[in-house]
Amino acid sequence: MSLVQGYSRRRTRLADSYPLSFHCLLCHGFEEFGVANAAVLADDSSAAAVDLVAYLAQLTRQTTTNVTILTNGRPDLEENSKIVAAKARGFNVDSREIKSFQSGGSAGSPLAVEFTDGSVARFGFVVHHPRTILRGPFAQQLGLEITSAGDILVWGMFQETSKRGVFAAGDCATPLKQVAIGMGAGVTAGIGANSQIVQEDIARW
Ligand SMILES: Cc1cc2nc3c(=O)[nH]c(=O)nc-3n(C[C@H](O)[C@H](O)[C@H](O)COP(=O)(O)OP(=O)(O)OC[C@H]3O[C@@H](n4cnc5c(N)ncnc54)[C@H](O)[C@@H]3O)c2cc1C
Repeated sequence: MSLVQGYSRRRTRLADSYPLSFHCLLCHGFEEFGVANAAVLADDSSAAAVDLVAYLAQLTRQTTTNVTILTNGRPDLEENSKIVAAKARGFNVDSREIKSFQSGGSAGSPLAVEFTDGSVARFGFVVHHPRTILRGPFAQQLGLEITSAGDILVWGMFQETSKRGVFAAGDCATPLKQVAIGMGAGVTAGIGANSQIVQEDIARW
């Protein structure tokens, strides 16, 4: 069985409410090179999510040297060792609770972040990568092992899952959700599935 079921992004109040937001700095961001500043939104304290925020902050620094991690009033995030380490390396950490994101404002910092205390900060753009969710019930029904990032765990060269005979390819089975990667994984999953069929046929001879 091959799974190519895709994924959805977990939608959040914040994620729905602002323009000038990028979920992936390999897809967007270069066109903003040289903006005065930018922000990375942290909203999930799981280890995988905090690691991703730290990585996204580093990628954002390729666009501007003034990068702020927004922890949205969450002490668990502000005190997280990865966020503390980022602060020590020169990233700003803003712990104010966010009320809204609005576009419009000064050139170079067109995104306004309004905080619940009434203060406002402006950024060139904000990066937010919501946790992804597998579409469909198949992985759960088949009892497949899932990674901490929420993808189907695959191993080896041929996209094998934790259950023999089940292969997963594409967005559901990688954090690198891109067409070329999904196509390549689909090809290798097909080769792997056929190899198992051949092995089982030969074993029955
Ligand atoms: C806004 C956006 C922009 C992107 N831009 C780029 C880009 O510029 N370059 C790039 O390389 N990648 C880009 N991507 C990523 C790219 O679209 C994905 O990596 C790629 O489509 C993954 O293919 P897939 O087959 O794994 O999943 P999908 O394309 O999501 O296909 C999964 C399919 O399974 C179907 N399905 C789900 N559940 C069931 C079910 N229960 N029964 C039957 N069918 C089901 C779905 O309807 C869907 O058709 C972008 C993604 C988004 C969302």
